[in-house]
Amino acid sequence: READAWARRFEAAQTRDGHMVEVAANLGNTAHAEDAVERGAEGVGLLRTEFLFMAHSSAPDLSTQTAEYRQALDALNGRPLVARTLDVGGDKPLPYWPVPQEDNPFLGLRGIRLALTEPEVLETQLRALLMAAAPVAGASARPLRIMLPMVKDVAEFRAAKAIFDRLLADIPANGRASDVQLGVMIEIPSSALLAPSLAAEVDFFSIGTNDLTQYTLAIDRGHPELSAQADGLHPAVLRLIQMTVEAAHAKGKWVGVCGELASDSAAIPVLVGLGVDELSVSARQIPLVKARLREFDLADAQASAQLALAQATSIDVRDALEAR
Ligand code: PEP
Ligand code: MG
Repeated sequence: READAWARRFEAAQTRDGHMVEVAANLGNTAHAEDAVERGAEGVGLLRTEFLFMAHSSAPDLSTQTAEYRQALDALNGRPLVARTLDVGGDKPLPYWPVPQEDNPFLGLRGIRLALTEPEVLETQLRALLMAAAPVAGASARPLRIMLPMVKDVAEFRAAKAIFDRLLADIPANGRASDVQLGVMIEIPSSALLAPSLAAEVDFFSIGTNDLTQYTLAIDRGHPELSAQADGLHPAVLRLIQMTVEAAHAKGKWVGVCGELASDSAAIPVLVGLGVDELSVSARQIPLVKARLREFDLADAQASAQLALAQATSIDVRDALEAR
């Protein structure tokens, strides 16, 4: 089965009846983009840029960042790059950006909240991304999707978008991305509940099921005893995903999933049945995720999603899907 999945890794990702779902790679390092393409990635669905910041003893400057992002876009050769802006705090400390001592760092200064306290860092990163994706004469298009982490409501999105819009006005059009979207991660329950208001303003959503599950179930994603119960197939999380997809599609926006749930073979039909447009997974899982998609039809997936939503616990969801 693995050998067959590998042999078919460059085929378009689709269900047995031809419903297309983009399968992209989660990357922590731009140098791995080429390898992801070699494994069948149709793009990068999550570039965790904090790893670039962790590799330096202070925030990397504009030219360092531009060169890094350019490397990923070159390797992708026309495939989209979803780059997440710096997501520090909580489980992702950055030594030279000390966050004040907090009793609950997971509920403290992190993600976009922290980024907005030092807007120059965010601005430099956005500028580097926009410049890296500038068209290259004679080469493929360079689709860039910029994604903001840990957004809880539209106010935080607007604050970041104001910086983004200023840069668009400031950088000459021939020196920056021509195909660019600005979206948010949906990884806090409030943003899923308020997805209709966000969907009206963002270009896309990508659901971070790792944090969304942690915050919905109030279970630390890294807890030594409890993390096994932090299952993204919990019906409460699935309802939030459903709300997110419905709100996005009502406004003509696309939705990805970039948390661990996207590569869970029981979850894949459920996510597709809920209408998710893109699955972003670790590069080595890409052939297997494409193979899993080829095993079912869209109607099966929709039935699996309804079955899962009707359950009361994550164990019930897994049992019901298994029995099906
Ligand atoms: C998530 O929260 O699901 C996610 C993809 O982001 P990270 O794992 O980097 O927090
Ligand atoms: Mg997250």
